[in-house]
Amino acid sequence: MNINELRSSFISGKLDLRKFYSELIETIESKKDLNIFISFNKDDIFRQIENIEKKNNNNSHGALFGIPVTLKDNISYDKLKMTCGSKMLENFEPIFNATVVDKLIKEDAIIIGKVNMDEFAMGSSSETSYFGPTKNPIDNTLIPGGSSSGSAASVAAEMALISLGSDSGGSVRQPASYCNIYGYMPSYGTISRYGVASMANTLDQVGILSNCVEDIVTTTNIIGGYDNKDMNSTLNEKVNFQINEDYNFKGKKIGVIDLDKFEIEETVKEDYELAVSKIKSLGAEIIELDFKYLKYSTSVYSVVMSSEVSSNMSRFDGIRYGYLTDEYETTDDLYINTRSEGFGEETQRRIAMGTLFLAAENNQKLYKQGQKVRKLMSDEFNTQFEKVDIILTPTTTNLPYELGSRVEDPLSVYDSGTFNVPVNLCGLCCISIPVRKGISGSIQFIGKRYEDEEILNAAYYYERSNN
Ligand code: GLN
Repeated sequence: MNINELRSSFISGKLDLRKFYSELIETIESKKDLNIFISFNKDDIFRQIENIEKKNNNNSHGALFGIPVTLKDNISYDKLKMTCGSKMLENFEPIFNATVVDKLIKEDAIIIGKVNMDEFAMGSSSETSYFGPTKNPIDNTLIPGGSSSGSAASVAAEMALISLGSDSGGSVRQPASYCNIYGYMPSYGTISRYGVASMANTLDQVGILSNCVEDIVTTTNIIGGYDNKDMNSTLNEKVNFQINEDYNFKGKKIGVIDLDKFEIEETVKEDYELAVSKIKSLGAEIIELDFKYLKYSTSVYSVVMSSEVSSNMSRFDGIRYGYLTDEYETTDDLYINTRSEGFGEETQRRIAMGTLFLAAENNQKLYKQGQKVRKLMSDEFNTQFEKVDIILTPTTTNLPYELGSRVEDPLSVYDSGTFNVPVNLCGLCCISIPVRKGISGSIQFIGKRYEDEEILNAAYYYERSNN
């Protein structure tokens, strides 16, 4: 069922809200071993049901009336703690709602709980979470992807129709791909980040994970648009994306890339080729594009991202909020021990890298170099978009791997984001779409900045043609 169908069933009385949620809670509890939720409170779910019932006794049901939603645990909801997947914030209770959460509640959505993630959104597998990894609901020996791991898993395991995640370098699209669902990251500045913990400010975006494109469009129209509390809110209006039932690929120019220039697993390659030929058969003109800078994307990302991470993480010092060590005599000890005990290994690694990249001694050489190549990449994308309407790449370079198998190899994990990170670096929009059912490769439609409606329509059309 999609949002409109489920909402209508509640309103018509065909489905009983309380019965539906009692069953949903049973499903969630029976799948506890997937380790999807960090915070989950039944009483809060029934409190929300009571609220929307009271509010709607005059028949003015919100657009998300009764729809189950999960939130990545870096999005603030004042009824549940917000850990960001870290020991640093294990007991942190936020005192306000993120703008996106207020907007969901206003439309009568039900917040099911806060879901697992890589620590402070750094990771690709959920294995950097202080609360242990989430398992992939399709095959629980595999990673679900990350960092919005619980978001993807909760939708794939049918615990929520939609989940909000965050994407700074693929964290919505990559887990969506690994869990065989849809994951959308809007153009930079489209959805408010107020109340979402920052990882790397020039890259972070709130994104939406769902089982269908239509629900992504419905949700974006509700949570997107201008927010005067977010200085990066670049739209001065509401979002009102329309699905055009007549949209098709005739006359569309779709840019593709030569996968032989990249290291990619065979199945991912085959699925990409499958999608390209499908899109071609639907009437699109396929245009091969040559990218000079794409192969540097993960290196540029590492430099820019860790520099921003090191500055964002400096607020966690044990003094204002969050974890505080028991072991200190001097102020130096307090900082060092708090941060060494409170942050996991991956977060510490990135803080160390970022501090090096920003160091004054070498005149911030690498950071400046990274920003220069970032500009070249962005110019290159703009030039390509003069030739095509949409750029098509695989979402990831590999399929989900066995839990635990790459913990010792962070560099290979970084490389899997080759096609994800440039979209963030250049502020573009993107949606990841499954090609086949089950564990398989996915594709990304990448669009020009603010041309989200184009890629969403293309995704909707592809989804219908492919099913
Ligand atoms: N895998 C990427 C990383 O670890 C994605 C991060 C993100 O998008 N939040 O940096």
